[in-house]
Amino acid sequence: MQRRDFLKKAGAGGIALGAGLAASGSASAKAEYKWKMVTTWPKNFPGLGTGANNLARLITEMSGGRIHVKVYGAKELVPAFEVFDAVSRGTAEMGHGASYYWKGKVPAAQFFAAMPFGMNAQEFNGWIYHGGGQALWDEVYAPFGVMGMPGGNTGVQMGGWFNKEINSLADMKGLKMRIPGLGGEVLKRLGGTPVNLPGGELYTALTSGTIDATEWVGPYNDLAFGLYKAAKYYYYPGFHEPGTCLEAIVNRKAYEALPKDLQSIVINAAKVANQDMLAEFTARNPGALKQLVDDHGADLRRYPDDVVAQMRKVSAEVVADVAKQDALSKKVYDAYSNFLTSSRVFTDISELAYLKARDE
Ligand code: CA
Repeated sequence: MQRRDFLKKAGAGGIALGAGLAASGSASAKAEYKWKMVTTWPKNFPGLGTGANNLARLITEMSGGRIHVKVYGAKELVPAFEVFDAVSRGTAEMGHGASYYWKGKVPAAQFFAAMPFGMNAQEFNGWIYHGGGQALWDEVYAPFGVMGMPGGNTGVQMGGWFNKEINSLADMKGLKMRIPGLGGEVLKRLGGTPVNLPGGELYTALTSGTIDATEWVGPYNDLAFGLYKAAKYYYYPGFHEPGTCLEAIVNRKAYEALPKDLQSIVINAAKVANQDMLAEFTARNPGALKQLVDDHGADLRRYPDDVVAQMRKVSAEVVADVAKQDALSKKVYDAYSNFLTSSRVFTDISELAYLKARDE
């Protein structure tokens, strides 16, 4: 047995070397299932794109190469905002993005990414995995033949980069800020002008004065983008994205064609990728923040209390308005709100009380 194992190993090594293939090439060659993963991120984009790579690598490794997942950056196979459709029609078996990108098609999808003043990452994962959230996500995506699940989380984001000081609510009036989604709607109701621009245009828009401010993600990603060179004030907290979930989506037919062990690997690899991305942001944000402040002179500011209070009030109205769009949005809104209302009772006397106590 030992000799046969040795020969087998030597033989496999010999083939790999002789063929001059990269490891991924040989894994692909023997794969029983070759899956494509389309993503909304630029290829290898720090944190988000690398998170998608991590998920693909986990599935490939955990399955011993029986599933080989090849990752495509935005525009490589389909444009960023066509990822959902591509997975729905089976052009790709998997996707990685964020569910709020599909709000035009499915308004209820937004609850599975981020809500202004909504759940943080810990609460959101509790809701999805153990609080009924996953069943609702399945229901929302079922008409499209797509399964959605957490595939990463940024944690609490930053408020953003500003070329103007925000000292009171009056300073929000007329503010031109790149802030997409529901956060943008909140800004609008505070008298500002939300602008939606792709990440690659933020730097130029800020330096040219086309916008006064922009949000992006947090220190790790913002440092990589060089936003500190285009704006001085770095505001917190990112009330509009308090724990943004990045989603992994899977074509249901492709999933159902897998044997049970491989199905389990896909589901559990996504769980690992979800947790690992949050851990990476947790590890990298503090060092990046230190660099931004100490080396690049970022002026770190907290939003004034009256601005935060008004943002909180208006956010509740904006989120409640999503529920009015259709019956399914109302159903998910009710479930989301009920989970948040009940979970925060404990969050307040555990995480929040502890973090306050630690800071005293
Ligand atoms: Ca953001």
